[in-house]
Amino acid sequence: MHGQTNMNTRTDVLIIGAGGAGMMCAIKAGNRGRSVVLLDHAKKVGGKILISGGGRCNFTNLGASPNQYVSQNPHFAKSALARYTPSDFIEMVQAHGIEYHEKKLGQQFCDGSAQQIVDLLLTECKGAGARFQLETRVEQIERLPEDSHPLRFRIITKVEVFECESLVIATGGLSIPKIGATGFGYDVAKQFGVSLVERAAALDGFVLKPEDETRFGGLAGLSFDSEIRVRDKVFREAILFTHAGLSGPATLQASLHWYPGDPVIVDLLPEMNVFEWFLSKKKSGNKSIVRNLLSELLPSRLSERFCELYFKDIRPLPDVSEKELKSFCEILKAWTFVPKETVGYSKAEVTRGGVDTDELSSKTLESKKMPGLFFIGEVVDVTGWLGGYNFQWAWASGAAAGAVV
Ligand SMILES: Cc1cc2nc3c(=O)[nH]c(=O)nc-3n(C[C@H](O)[C@H](O)[C@H](O)COP(=O)(O)OP(=O)(O)OC[C@H]3O[C@@H](n4cnc5c(N)ncnc54)[C@H](O)[C@@H]3O)c2cc1C
Repeated sequence: MHGQTNMNTRTDVLIIGAGGAGMMCAIKAGNRGRSVVLLDHAKKVGGKILISGGGRCNFTNLGASPNQYVSQNPHFAKSALARYTPSDFIEMVQAHGIEYHEKKLGQQFCDGSAQQIVDLLLTECKGAGARFQLETRVEQIERLPEDSHPLRFRIITKVEVFECESLVIATGGLSIPKIGATGFGYDVAKQFGVSLVERAAALDGFVLKPEDETRFGGLAGLSFDSEIRVRDKVFREAILFTHAGLSGPATLQASLHWYPGDPVIVDLLPEMNVFEWFLSKKKSGNKSIVRNLLSELLPSRLSERFCELYFKDIRPLPDVSEKELKSFCEILKAWTFVPKETVGYSKAEVTRGGVDTDELSSKTLESKKMPGLFFIGEVVDVTGWLGGYNFQWAWASGAAAGAVV
C-alpha cells in the first residue's frame, strides 16, 4: 500500500514518536515488508537515548525479567519480554560493532557514546525502508469508517495527511519536558476511550519536608552505601544527600515504589549489627564518645549530624547505658522519614503509570477496543527499575507490535 499523493500519504503503519520503542517497531514492521512512517515533533530522533546512562546509554540489563517492572498487572510484560530478550538487542549492538561493557548488576553500557545506539537504530530503520517525518505536529487523529478498510486512521498534520492501517503511539512519558516529552499518548488514549492508570514522576528521588530539609540539607553532596526500603521493596546502593532531599541510585529505585504518605526507611549500616559493635567496644573498656566511634563507620559529617539529632549526650562509652545505645542503634538501622514528594518530571527518568494494560493485548500491544491502535514503550503502564530495564521494555514492546502491525 505504498504511494503518495501531494498532501495525502497512505502507509501501512504510522508510528508517532521516534524514540527507542517507535524505532524498534519500525525496524520490525519494515523488515516484514510493511510501509512505515515515523512521525516526531522533535528535530532529532532518540533524544532520551542520547541523554541516557550519563551519555553512554544503559541499553539493557542481562537480568531483565518481569520482576523488575512496576505495573497494575505485573504479568502483562511477560510475553513481550520473553520474545525479545537482552541477548537479542546485544546481538544487534555487536553486529554494529559497538563496544560495550557491564558497569554493575547486569547493566550494559556503550564504551563510547549513546549516539552509537541512535545510529544503530537509524541504520536499521533505513534498512527496513522506514521514512522519518520529523518536526511534525499532529493536529488531529480520526478513525476512518468501516468501508475504508484496510485503512483505519487518518492523521492530520499541517502539511500532510496520513492514512494508515495501523497507528502506533510511542510518544513516551512526561519526564524531561525540555527535550520534548508530552502527554500526547495519554490524550490519544482518552480520545479513543482507552483508560489510564494514574501517572507519577518516578526514578527521581525525594524532596524532604521542610523540617527534615532543615535537619539534613547541610549534608548536601554526601554519598554513602545504604539499604533503603519502601513498602516491600529494598534496594542496596548509594544514597546521595542533595540540598532539598535525597538522590543516588538507591533513592531513585525507591522513588519508583513510593506513593504519597509512605514512610521511607533507611538502614545506614546495612549488614552490620551496630548495637553489638558498640557493646563489644564497651565491654573491651573503650572510653571514646559515641560520636567519635560512629565516625569509624559512617562519613564523619553524617555521623555528627545523626548524633546531634538523636544522641546529644557526649558522655564516654562506659557511662552510656545499653538501653540508650540500643535506641540510638535502632535509629541508625531504620532511619524513617516521610518525603514531601518526589523530585518531579524535570529530573525523573520515567513516568510511572500510563495506558492501562487491561486495555491492551500483552502479545501485540494492540488496543482491545480499537483494532489497529497500538501503544508501546513508556506510554504504557509498565515501568522498569533503574538499570537498563526501561530500554529493554521499549525494545521488547516495540518488537512485539512490530511483528503484527
Ligand atoms: C535522564 C534519563 C536517563 C535515562 N537513562 C536510562 C538508561 O540508561 N537506561 C534505561 O533503560 N532507561 C533510561 N531512561 C528511561 C528511558 O529513556 C525511557 O524509558 C525510554 O526512552 C522510553 O522509550 P519510548 O520510546 O517509549 O519513549 P521516548 O524515548 O521518550 O520517545 C518518545 C518520542 O516521542 C516524541 N513525542 C513526544 N510527544 C510527541 C508529540 N506530541 N508529537 C510527536 N512526537 C512526540 C518525542 O520527541 C520522542 O522522540 C532514562 C530517562 C531519562 C530521562
